[in-house]
Amino acid sequence: MTHDDILKAAGLTKADLTGGTLTVRSPIDGAELAKLHETAPADMAKVIARSQAAFRKWREVPAPRRGELVRLLGEELRAAKEALGALVTLEVGKITSEGLGEVQEMIDICDFAVGLSRQIYGLTIASERPGHRMMETWHPLGPCAIITAFNFPVAVWSWNAALALVCGDPVIWKPSEKTPLTAIATQRIMERALKRFGADAPEGLCQLVIGGPAIGEALVASKDVPIVSATGSTRMGGIVGPRVSARWGRPILELGGNNAMIVAPSADMDMAVRAIVFSAVGTAGQRCTSLRRLIAHNSVKDELVAKLSKAYASLPVGDPRKGTTLVGPLIDAGAKDKMVKMLDRAKSEGGRVHGGKVVTDGVPGGAYVSPAIVEMPAQTETVREETFAPILYVLGYDTLDEAIALQNDVPQGLSSCIFTLNMREAETFLSASGSDCGIANVNIGPSGAEIGGAFGGEKETGGGRESGSDAWKGYMRRQTNTLNYSAKLPLAQGVKFDI
Ligand code: NAD
Repeated sequence: MTHDDILKAAGLTKADLTGGTLTVRSPIDGAELAKLHETAPADMAKVIARSQAAFRKWREVPAPRRGELVRLLGEELRAAKEALGALVTLEVGKITSEGLGEVQEMIDICDFAVGLSRQIYGLTIASERPGHRMMETWHPLGPCAIITAFNFPVAVWSWNAALALVCGDPVIWKPSEKTPLTAIATQRIMERALKRFGADAPEGLCQLVIGGPAIGEALVASKDVPIVSATGSTRMGGIVGPRVSARWGRPILELGGNNAMIVAPSADMDMAVRAIVFSAVGTAGQRCTSLRRLIAHNSVKDELVAKLSKAYASLPVGDPRKGTTLVGPLIDAGAKDKMVKMLDRAKSEGGRVHGGKVVTDGVPGGAYVSPAIVEMPAQTETVREETFAPILYVLGYDTLDEAIALQNDVPQGLSSCIFTLNMREAETFLSASGSDCGIANVNIGPSGAEIGGAFGGEKETGGGRESGSDAWKGYMRRQTNTLNYSAKLPLAQGVKFDI
């Protein structure tokens, strides 16, 4: 299929793709895909007002009926899976199965949210006062801004939107300026679901705005947008989080990671090698959960590095549309330059680099690299920083305490794992004195989370949670209710105030 065929199959028209100021290129070959019309900053007040008006109606629609809209979205996504997956590949450079996997994740969260729409439960609580009953009620909170990163250009919107919509909140989506085409195609899919759903869905329920940080900042600044879910770099979160908090809004921050795997002497080495290669190299190292640090016991480190170097040497790098490719392009030349710079820095700190070369032979013209393994003498500043590229730093350890201390001694706290067949080690890693991350796994890699669990991390990863478990509570306001069905007015804590 040509680029034009893919754009057309995803429902994008010439009018969508031409006449604007935002240039969109494919990382596969650098070809220009579109010049998009951007949302004017001056129009943001109208967008937010529409969302507020939609909120006043949508909060009155019963949650199970709101779930029906998300069920229809899931149906439309199933029908559009191939077309949208191909567009993810074209716009982000993910290999075909990962492009499709991203859409599958959207379908999965829709299914989850449909069930949730009938399970927005509050507690009933024992009151200390006779003739009284206490309970919790969950109410919609208001418009939810969804600011997304380039590397999961559509799935992250769906994690937020599916939950926000069943929780009674309208959504305003600002996608990455690097990946607006997949957002426009997804918005078309949403519009089809809205049309089938009918008049219960108010105008302005699901809006899309196109542009860079300035458009995002309008959402961050507005008191009429109580929830700002922002996914991206720690740098971005450091600006957005305090601004939203300063106006008493609720930020949900999903920021950078620096994910590690500990490989213990008892580990199943073949499984560990497969898990390392997928999680360090998949998506060309551009997942927030990509494996960036390998902390291997000194008795197995050399063997592991030898096995990994062999596996890395045969990794097919190239056009992500080819069925045999496992490593597609980086998002742009800037990402490639950063990888080269960080490898140079690691070398100057004593690192021994295997691989990590710029690839130009047989690729169509994007930013292609061979993944790198870097044996480091210590966890230096370079290792402690997230580089959004396929670099795997390797460190050695002697005791589990030392390994856990290394694993936790980075500013980020997203995902982590241990490979061990020793139950004491596994449980220690998962205990209060083990991994300090939002995600901690045993005998699987740090990336490739399922939507059923709450997703997110601690420290500079931002503390937000999205997706499964009770992450929905972040999109609602909790109300504590006390009902007195007695004929007396006793006060709590035995306080007397008789008049
Ligand atoms: P980025 O921070 O450059 O951009 C992310 C989004 O924030 C974009 O839409 C951008 O326009 C917007 N933005 C930037 N500055 C802003 C501002 N001042 N106000 C409002 N909006 C602003 O990130 P990126 O390069 O697109 O994505 C890669 C990063 O995202 C990595 O650090 C990765 O780890 C992280 N990420 C985290 C998660 C997670 O769930 N924790 C998921 C995906 C990506």
